[in-house]
Amino acid sequence: MTDQRDFDLIIAGAGPAGAALAYRMAAGGASVLLLEKQEAPARDRNWVVDVEEGCFSRANIPFPTKDSLWKKPREHFLATSDMQTMIEIERVPLVSVKNDLYIREVLNRAVNAGITLMCGREACSPILNRDCVVGLESRDSSGAKEKIYARIVADCTGINAALRTRTPDHWRMNESIEPEDIVFARREVRSVRKDLLSEEMICKPYRDGVRIDRSGARGPYSIESVFLDLKDLFVDILVGAKPDAGGKRTCAEMIDTIIDKMPFTGEVLYGGEGPIPIRSPHNCPVGNGIISIGDSAFQTVPIHGSGFASAVIAAEIAARNIIHALEIKRYDRKALWTYVSEFARGRGALIAYYDVIRRSVDKMRLSDIDRMIRAGIIGQRETVTGLSVRPFPVSPVYLAGKIIRGYRHFPLLVRFGIAGVRAKMEYEKYRKYPKYYE
Ligand SMILES: Cc1cc2nc3c(=O)[nH]c(=O)nc-3n(C[C@H](O)[C@H](O)[C@H](O)COP(=O)(O)OP(=O)(O)OC[C@H]3O[C@@H](n4cnc5c(N)ncnc54)[C@H](O)[C@@H]3O)c2cc1C
Repeated sequence: MTDQRDFDLIIAGAGPAGAALAYRMAAGGASVLLLEKQEAPARDRNWVVDVEEGCFSRANIPFPTKDSLWKKPREHFLATSDMQTMIEIERVPLVSVKNDLYIREVLNRAVNAGITLMCGREACSPILNRDCVVGLESRDSSGAKEKIYARIVADCTGINAALRTRTPDHWRMNESIEPEDIVFARREVRSVRKDLLSEEMICKPYRDGVRIDRSGARGPYSIESVFLDLKDLFVDILVGAKPDAGGKRTCAEMIDTIIDKMPFTGEVLYGGEGPIPIRSPHNCPVGNGIISIGDSAFQTVPIHGSGFASAVIAAEIAARNIIHALEIKRYDRKALWTYVSEFARGRGALIAYYDVIRRSVDKMRLSDIDRMIRAGIIGQRETVTGLSVRPFPVSPVYLAGKIIRGYRHFPLLVRFGIAGVRAKMEYEKYRKYPKYYE
C-alpha cells in the first residue's frame, strides 16, 4: 500500500521555533507545509528580543541582517528597585533583534528553498490513526475546515500549544501550564520628541546611550528596562511581571509610570506584548508522529523569560531528528526521542537549573533582592552568567569572594548558596536524561 500523506512534515506556527525548523528542513529536501494562524507571518509579534550571541551559529540559521538588528546601548546597568545602587554590566553577551523582521527573513529563505507557507490558517487539533498522529485539522479565517495529512506534525504554536495539549492522556504530553508559571511582558520603542526635549527633562538616572535594568519593579519576578537614545531619538522600554502582580494590566501601567517621568516621549514606533512560560522544560515533548518545540514545550529560560535562543536551538535538534526519522521511515515516539534527550541533556538542563533559581527568587521579598545587589551577592558576574545561560561558577575562590562580600547578610547568602546547590543537582539530573525511550 502506498503512503498517501500530503507532506513529510507539517509545522504549526511561524514564530522563531517554526521558522527555524522550516529553514532547517528545507535544506534537508523534505516536503514541508508551514501553517500560521495570522494573516501575515509574525504579525503582532513586533518586539525587540535580546538573544544570546552564539545561538544563530548553534542553530545553523542566518545571522540577522542590518535591517533586523536593533541598536545596542553604549552602557548597561543593573539597578536595585529604588535605583539607588547601580552596577555596570560589561560585555553583555546579547544581540538585539527585531523579532518580526528576523522571522520574515528566515521564512523568506525557507520559502525560496521550497517549503510551502500558508498564512491565515489555524491548526486546530491533531488527527489520530491507531494511536499515531497522521496530520491535523485546520481552519481558515472564514471558518472552513480542512484535514491535512503528514508523516510528522510539529507543534510550534507558542504558549497555547494548540496541538500538544490535544494529544491523548496516556501519551503524557498534554500537560497545560499553571498560571503561576506565566509572566507577561511588553516591549515598546517610542519616539523621543525633539521639540519637547530639554536637559532638565532628562531625570537621573536615565542618560543617553544607557540601558538600566531595574530589578523587582513590581515584586520579585519583575523587570523594568529602559534604554534612552538621544542620537536616534528613541526610548526602548521592556517590562515584565507575573499575573499575581497585576498581570497584563501591570505591564501597560508600568510603561505609563516610566513615560510619565519622560514627558518628551512620543508615539509607539515598534512594540508588542504577550505571555511567556517560565518553568522547567516539558519532559516528554514528543508522541507518535508529533513533536513540540519552543514555548509550546516550555523551553524559555525561566530566570528572564528568554525563549528565542532555546526555540531555535531546539528546532535545529528537532530538524536533525526528523530528517533521520524520515530516512528510516519511523515516526513513533521512540524514533523522535533523540530530540528529547539531546535537548534535555544540553539546553534543557540549563533551563531546569534556572527554574530552581527562579523558584527561590519567587519566595524572596523585594528588599532581599535589593540587599543582595547592594552586598554584591548578585553583581556583574552573576548577571552575565545568567544572560549567557550558564551555571554559576562554584570555585572556592568564587565562594570565598561571596562570603567576604555578603557575610553581613549571612541568611541571604545561605539561601543563595542552597538555591545554587539545588539548581546544580537538578542540572546534573537532566544531564543524565534517558537516551532511549523506555
Ligand atoms: C514582549 C516580549 C518580549 C520578549 N523578549 C524576549 C527577549 O528579549 N529574548 C528572548 O529570547 N525572548 C523574549 N521573549 C520570548 C520570546 O518571544 C518567545 O520565547 C519566543 O517567541 C518563542 O518562540 P515560539 O516560536 O516557540 O513561539 P511564538 O513566538 O509564540 O510563535 C508561535 C506562532 O504560532 C502561531 N500560532 C499560534 N497558534 C496557532 C495555531 N493554532 N495554528 C497556527 N499558528 C498558530 C502564532 O501566531 C505565532 O506566530 C519575549 C516575549 C515577549 C512577549
